[in-house]
Amino acid sequence: MYKLIDLPFRENELEPVISAETIALHHGKHLATYVNNLNNLLPGSGFEEKPLEEIVASATGGIFNNAGQILNHNLYFEQLQAPSEDNNPVGKLAAAIDEQFGSFETFKEKFTAAAVTLFGSGWAWLASDNDGKLQILQMPNADNPVTKGLKPLMTMDVWEHAYYVDYRNRRPDHIAAMWKILNWQVIEQRYRL
Ligand code: MN
Repeated sequence: MYKLIDLPFRENELEPVISAETIALHHGKHLATYVNNLNNLLPGSGFEEKPLEEIVASATGGIFNNAGQILNHNLYFEQLQAPSEDNNPVGKLAAAIDEQFGSFETFKEKFTAAAVTLFGSGWAWLASDNDGKLQILQMPNADNPVTKGLKPLMTMDVWEHAYYVDYRNRRPDHIAAMWKILNWQVIEQRYRL
């Protein structure tokens, strides 16, 4: 049985970037529903006891959708922390961003464009390949870089449930604020592992 993850922050700790109301709904209702759905679908599927990454890389239909959304949301929530104004990448990942994109500012512009222009529901991703080369991806619905053999490092959720309570239709404003609450220590750790 998969379990709903605990958040690494209090529900109101991301304010004003993300409200306690949004976190309560996003984690306590949306993610909890994906966990319940997957637990109901798994018996007899052959995917029982498999790691989420393995399920997402090979399942289809409802199992793929619900496992994907659990994996995506776990990666999303675990990379967030209280807002800070001067919030920059660290370590080996910071060096790779500078080397491949020229600067963090240029990377932010490219990632923001991917998040803002993704049509409909989905996720913008920073991922790396086996050689440590970075990629920005737009992926629809429940998809995750593991389906392309890539390692997911950082993500922004652009399903409307991630921002509609706080930002209504203003997705670009939500994405612009998200940079204040990324925990680059966690994201860099994913890159190094
Ligand atoms: Mn979501």
